[in-house]
Amino acid sequence: MSARPVLAVRGASMVYPGGVTALHDVSLAVQQGELLGIVGPSGSGKSTLLNIMGTLDRPTSGTVEIDGQDVAELSDRRLSALRGRRLGFVFQQFHLTDGLTAAENVATGLLYAGVPRGKRRALALQALDRVGLARRARHLPQQLSGGERQRVAIARALVNRPVLVLADEPTGALDTATGVAVLDLLTELNREGTTIAVITHDRDIAAQLPRRVEIRDGRLRSDTLTDTDASAATEGWS
Ligand code: ADP
Repeated sequence: MSARPVLAVRGASMVYPGGVTALHDVSLAVQQGELLGIVGPSGSGKSTLLNIMGTLDRPTSGTVEIDGQDVAELSDRRLSALRGRRLGFVFQQFHLTDGLTAAENVATGLLYAGVPRGKRRALALQALDRVGLARRARHLPQQLSGGERQRVAIARALVNRPVLVLADEPTGALDTATGVAVLDLLTELNREGTTIAVITHDRDIAAQLPRRVEIRDGRLRSDTLTDTDASAATEGWS
């Protein structure tokens, strides 16, 4: 496995205008193939960290590297291109476009990738198939259940084969059983090779993830890895 992380945050602090220090000197590296949870109570700095990891915000100090590229060196235009090509986002409220079918919504994940239109549809259908929704490709979001909408959003995040998927409270708008199914899907996608960071305030969800990074008052409090050697060996992924 390559030693270079897909994402590295080094010594990042974030001071908002008005003087709130939302992050204090946070360092975090995500290796290819990981599934980690970033967990903490409301107000602990999770969204701030997510925005920095997702290059949506620049930290006040410290650095962020995506796939070895220091994002501070990029213009806004190049940065949004890098974000579009290398990162996938999943949000609590799905953020699907109402007038577009499931397949069209997924294809919007390819807009920055320079993929020809015809190919976009084929890739979108493949991604929908990966999340078990091939038969809903022509449905509009309002014809889908909450869990199905989140699957569409996950397919959209995956369609460009990003180096990292950032999922912000992905089960937060779902009932418990549907949330479990979405978490199972993320686990499955991770087994197939997708690197995923799940931001959550829910300790039960975090407890099911192989690595948990705990944030409190803007500081990293713990970074815990479950020993999965035994299960990895029996699953035969290599
Ligand atoms: P969480 O996602 O864990 O709920 P946040 O990152 O949203 O935490 O917030 C961390 C702290 O930063 C909180 O005290 C919050 O009020 C503050 N904060 C977040 N966003 C802003 C902002 N845009 N301007 C000023 N303060 C902010």
